[in-house]
Amino acid sequence: MAEESVGAQSAETEPSAPTTVGPTTVGPRTIGPRTIGIEGLQALIDALAARGYTVLGPSVSGGAIVNGPIRTLDDLPRGWGDEQESAHYRLRRRDDDAFFGFAAGAQSAKPVFFPTDELLWRGRRSRAGFTVEPESAGANGAPAAESGPYALLGVRSCDLHAIAIHDRVLTGRVQADAHYAARRSGAFIVSVSCTDPAGTCFCVSMGTGPRPEGGSAARFDLSLTELLDGGHRFVVEVGSDRGAEVLADITAPPAPLGDLEAADAVAASAATRMGRTLDTDGLKELLYANVESPRWDDVASRCLACTNCTMVCPTCFCTTVNDVSDLTGDDGERHRVWDSCFDADFSYIHGGTVRESTKSRYRQWMTHKLGSWIDQFGTSGCVGCGRCVTWCPAAIDITAEAAALRGTTPPTRPN
Ligand code: SF4
Ligand code: SF4
Repeated sequence: MAEESVGAQSAETEPSAPTTVGPTTVGPRTIGPRTIGIEGLQALIDALAARGYTVLGPSVSGGAIVNGPIRTLDDLPRGWGDEQESAHYRLRRRDDDAFFGFAAGAQSAKPVFFPTDELLWRGRRSRAGFTVEPESAGANGAPAAESGPYALLGVRSCDLHAIAIHDRVLTGRVQADAHYAARRSGAFIVSVSCTDPAGTCFCVSMGTGPRPEGGSAARFDLSLTELLDGGHRFVVEVGSDRGAEVLADITAPPAPLGDLEAADAVAASAATRMGRTLDTDGLKELLYANVESPRWDDVASRCLACTNCTMVCPTCFCTTVNDVSDLTGDDGERHRVWDSCFDADFSYIHGGTVRESTKSRYRQWMTHKLGSWIDQFGTSGCVGCGRCVTWCPAAIDITAEAAALRGTTPPTRPN
């Protein structure tokens, strides 16, 4: 294999291979897939850090895989897999050294671009009047003291779709969320193909995975498919000019046909091992027609209204605003914090709560997620990541609830 870096390639179009990992037209060039080894993955992390990115990626902490700072390969969950089922999450040791051999982690990209607690502004009252401190707002109104721009390593295909949904929701309306927009525009995304979906995954049903492939998803800058057969390596696809520039910093020879076929096989195999399915055919209409279904009473008898499902969901975006001041009343701050439609106070308006019962709140969440979201934003609000199923302490499963409304039972794969 020739040791040629992507930066050394000519401006000519590279020959395409007969696989689904195709060349990407980036600016004036068409850049074909590349292959890097383990040392190339470290070089990629180093190249991103050298360009000023704070690299965040999957890391083992507290018995789960969560977002964490990635400086070396040792920060990644090498050799770790996971088991996910309804109300069940466990790490497990793999019998190989895969860096990305697990399914969607406990956190999506949501907390990175849309923090749980966002300082909107800080103000001070004095004899001269009320002033908003300039250091509390940076470019486009975003906080100045950020540790970004961020490079997100290991973003799954379902989460790319979730980011695209947030892009539409948070920046596609009359008033864009400046804080979110600033973080998103500066971010570099390295996605990864899923190789081992969990028992709660159903991205195939939602058309959102398991391989990052563009379409209605947020664009990746680089995308990796991890290969373990015949040598530990990664097929790298380029999705943007920025991705090409970063890849030019490291040694990344063109991927041989065998690697492209192996990457195709990994994704095809993952697609057959989804633990859940969701029949989306006519689902919006089904939900609208079942507003009075007794199934809502049934699920409400199990639901704890704990809000877990909305916290882990990569597309939920409900927030509330908290104003706080110090004891003198001279210094005040306004924060935007995550909220949930499962909280009774969330629908409190002028003297009353609109959705008083857990039944009405679960119905609202599921009907919005799978039905009225389509009318509102043009897509489903669910990307099939399965997190709400895994992290619900009452083992409530959105795919099972949808099937129950149809009068069917969805098939599941034992994990
Ligand atoms: S469905 Fe589950 S996770 Fe969601 S609020 Fe109810 S008990 Fe909590
Ligand atoms: S509703 Fe559940 S499966 Fe769908 S995107 Fe949200 S957390 Fe994932």
